[in-house]
Amino acid sequence: MGWVVATETSRRSEETVMARRLPEHRGRTLVLMYHAVHATLDAWKKQEAADRWYAVTADQFHKQMEHLSRAGYATSLLGEFLAQKTPPKSVILTFDDGHESNFVVALPILQRFGFRADFFVTVANIGRPGFMNWEQLRLLLDAGMSVQSHGLHHRDLTGIREDLLADELRTAKDRLECNLARPVKYFAIPGGFADRGVYLAARAAGYEAICNSEPGLARSGEVIARVGIMHSTSQTAFQGLVQRRFFRLLQMRAQRKFGKIGKTLLGVRRYEALKRLRLSSSRSGGDV
Ligand SMILES: [Zn+2]
Repeated sequence: MGWVVATETSRRSEETVMARRLPEHRGRTLVLMYHAVHATLDAWKKQEAADRWYAVTADQFHKQMEHLSRAGYATSLLGEFLAQKTPPKSVILTFDDGHESNFVVALPILQRFGFRADFFVTVANIGRPGFMNWEQLRLLLDAGMSVQSHGLHHRDLTGIREDLLADELRTAKDRLECNLARPVKYFAIPGGFADRGVYLAARAAGYEAICNSEPGLARSGEVIARVGIMHSTSQTAFQGLVQRRFFRLLQMRAQRKFGKIGKTLLGVRRYEALKRLRLSSSRSGGDV
């Protein structure tokens, strides 16, 4: 099962590994992580290079949702998965940061296919230019979506003072619950950086599950693995991920590990600059 199967089969040819798939629904599911969804390629090009890396276009997103629909997948909310109330063939869609494009561009596409998603919003940005406002968040809830916490200021939570960490976690949760009149139970780690202290503080703040961005299939538990869908994720790569070809997931894990080492060695700023350079030289439609 899972990564154990990957180890057992590591000597087999790549083709054999690619052809094997993880079984549907054995307490695991695929949780996809999106950020902004821009209406057109021109709109995408106008973004800062670092933001373009994570953002997809409406065309890409539509094709991905269309594939899920045609392949017979349903979507579940994170809470349904944790309560073990998901249909056998389903995925979970999540959006980080609370970009306005989530409401303007992604929501109508989701509704076209009858899909639902969890939106993790950065609370201090609510209502700021480019981000969703409270009214839009309420409309998301009315449309059957879920709104959850991405912290207060989208800061690196590792190594900050305990009181600031508690504020980032608790104030974000309180403000969302107060303004939306719904319980907020889940937290997505901003920037993907977390240590043991962050997980413990999130639990102490009352979150029942924490989403990270470690590629892999999510287990029903307190820590939820997610697979990031980037602008460079080709349609073929997307379809491979949905079919749970774990070779692809292993590849993403290795890349993520390399990225983490890069971030640590270079520092986040220099790492982002290097990534921008890679983005500007990468072919469009490349692989994950
Ligand atoms: Zn984020």
